[in-house]
Amino acid sequence: HNPEQDFVLKTIESRDVHFVRFWFTDVLGNMKSFAVVPGELEAAFEDGMGFDGSCIEGFAAASESDMLAFPDPSTFQVLPWRPQSNAVARMICAIRTPEGDPYEGDPRHVLERMVRKASELGYSFIVGPELEYFYFKDAQGTDVLDHGSYFDLTSLDSASDLRRDTVLTLEKMGIPVEYSHHEKGPSQHEIDLRYADALSMADAVMTYKQVVKEIAMKHGVYASFMPKPMADAPGSGMHVHQSLIDLDGNNVFFDADDPSGYNLSATAKSYIAGLLKYAPEFTLVTNQYVNSYKRLQPGGEAPTCVSWGARNRSTLVRIPGYRPHSESACRVELRSPDPAANPYLAFAVMLAAGLAGIEEGLELMPPVDDGAPLGCSRHEHRARGVLPLPATLGEAVELFAESRLMRETLGEHIHDYLVRTKRAEWDAYQGIVTPWELKRDLAVL
Ligand code: GLN
Ligand code: MG
Ligand code: MG
Ligand code: MG
Repeated sequence: HNPEQDFVLKTIESRDVHFVRFWFTDVLGNMKSFAVVPGELEAAFEDGMGFDGSCIEGFAAASESDMLAFPDPSTFQVLPWRPQSNAVARMICAIRTPEGDPYEGDPRHVLERMVRKASELGYSFIVGPELEYFYFKDAQGTDVLDHGSYFDLTSLDSASDLRRDTVLTLEKMGIPVEYSHHEKGPSQHEIDLRYADALSMADAVMTYKQVVKEIAMKHGVYASFMPKPMADAPGSGMHVHQSLIDLDGNNVFFDADDPSGYNLSATAKSYIAGLLKYAPEFTLVTNQYVNSYKRLQPGGEAPTCVSWGARNRSTLVRIPGYRPHSESACRVELRSPDPAANPYLAFAVMLAAGLAGIEEGLELMPPVDDGAPLGCSRHEHRARGVLPLPATLGEAVELFAESRLMRETLGEHIHDYLVRTKRAEWDAYQGIVTPWELKRDLAVL
């Protein structure tokens, strides 16, 4: 076997690893896992480990359920929150059919395919996500741990130890953290990972969510990535900073001579134009639950319409202005995604949209830095000629269903699955009579 596989087998000896967890992700972004004993690994590297794919959300029908998981040795990590004798390690897997082909329902494969397409065009796709989340006393309700707000550092921020423990655990797993702080909402927090190539980053996001939840559980509390758990507090976003670098490592988004003053190249502008053009179609992927659309409402720092700018934090795409003259810091920030998205699919669709913008040579619309205040409604945006993002899961799924780019990017299997599943979720929600309606209407109608 190859040197990476050798390294895994040696580390298993030296670190007293007794269980190797195989991790993979279903279509909706839930982590799936089974444990393999070290003695099986050599064979697993060669031939994969079989499992029943018909039990995995978005995978095969029962009639064609045999699937194989092939562990990627470069993702081997010992799990720091498990005992260190008879330790537990994990590897992230590629899913293949019994014929040995990449499985079309495997979201990691979708991103791999998109990343390969970018590299054929000479680009590598770099992303830096900012994941926000809440700590609650338990999973039964929204009892918060503190009443802190943005950047608060006092005893109010009783979650400091939780964040510290989480950051240290992530670093032990080879995931560098750039930033961590209290967010605006009570008990709302953010930990930002240092930028990396999209595939490693999607793996890191899956690991991150697992680590945040594990460490919370260890401290007797619950961590949630639900997009909008409380009506009167901000939602949780997953802003994604992104750039393309060429084979020589140059940031192709940077142009110090940009007459517009944003230091953006023509390529960057077409990329942004692609994000804007295709956002209504890809929003189902970046915001995939009924609840996601409760976050995308006017008045907060989440976008409601298709716009870009530098200062305005209600735009869909923002050009961060922290170090405007630095090539390495030049990037665009997509602000609509939420942390309940499947990171593999989310990164794949944003890359697809941006590259389509470049391929189509799209012109970038003017920025909205002057107008469009945070509180602007969809109606007011429309009156200014700015298109809205889908306002509900129901709108999002129909725009997605019609999208040729989404069908191409995700493949028929995942596209069909999402249309079916998300229509059903929307229909189920439409059938619910809410406490809000009863309170408002029952006594008067
Ligand atoms: N929580 C906000 C959102 O939903 C973002 C707030 C911020 O990071 N400035 O996107
Ligand atoms: Mg942030
Ligand atoms: Mg934030
Ligand atoms: Mg941000």
